[in-house]
Amino acid sequence: MTDDNGAQWAGESSELRAARARMVETQLVPRGIACPRVLAAMGEVPRHEFVDPRLVGEAYSDHALPIGHGVTISQPYMVALMTERAAIKPGDRVLEIGAGSGYQSAVLAALGAEVFAIERIDALVAPARARLDRLGYGAQVHLRVGDGSLGWPENAPYAAILVAAAAPQIPQALIDELAPGGRLVIPVGTDAQELRLICRRASGKPSLQADGEGSRGFSEESLLPVRFVPLIGQG
Ligand code: SAH
Repeated sequence: MTDDNGAQWAGESSELRAARARMVETQLVPRGIACPRVLAAMGEVPRHEFVDPRLVGEAYSDHALPIGHGVTISQPYMVALMTERAAIKPGDRVLEIGAGSGYQSAVLAALGAEVFAIERIDALVAPARARLDRLGYGAQVHLRVGDGSLGWPENAPYAAILVAAAAPQIPQALIDELAPGGRLVIPVGTDAQELRLICRRASGKPSLQADGEGSRGFSEESLLPVRFVPLIGQG
């Protein structure tokens, strides 16, 4: 179904399809999103299905949008950047914290991941589940209500972990659940936040602190200043 202009969904207007292709060309490519698979996934997933029907006209705009309960669906560029830096391969097990509308889960599923998504607001989960099922991504996404700052140990380790809410500090559970070679993309901070990429080395001590010999099991990179809703949890 996918061609150079992205996917066409049954019942979707040509305006929405064109707006999605424009989103990729004007918001993602010029800012440096270069992975063809990520661009194809962003061109495929119908973002307008993940917003309130009254906001469909804004679904492909260059900003976050309210999805109720005081939270937002992230800006398309932020979803694309986090997805690209997480370097998702088909078949990867991916943990997603803060599933919200389910949009990020769909993008990960479009890349062939098996997604384990957690959302703390009960009322958001059923609609997200229904959308993912209706659009054909449901079989790849396990979605549950809970506190994602505590991780989801039953399915660990994960090749990638994406967090869509800002943590005051990186929850230890997420560090513990990263597979060797795995990537964690997470906004950190309260007022001033930055998006960080933490990569667990294929070998090395699974701690963020340097050990006695000075070798660290992780590399850490600050990507850019960001503004996310807070991660509310115990981890
Ligand atoms: N990826 C979502 C973004 C939603 S905003 C989307 O594309 O729609 C971030 C989400 O994180 C909110 O829905 C918020 O309820 C959720 N959240 C905050 N703290 C959480 C926690 N500890 N565990 C799980 N979800 C959490």
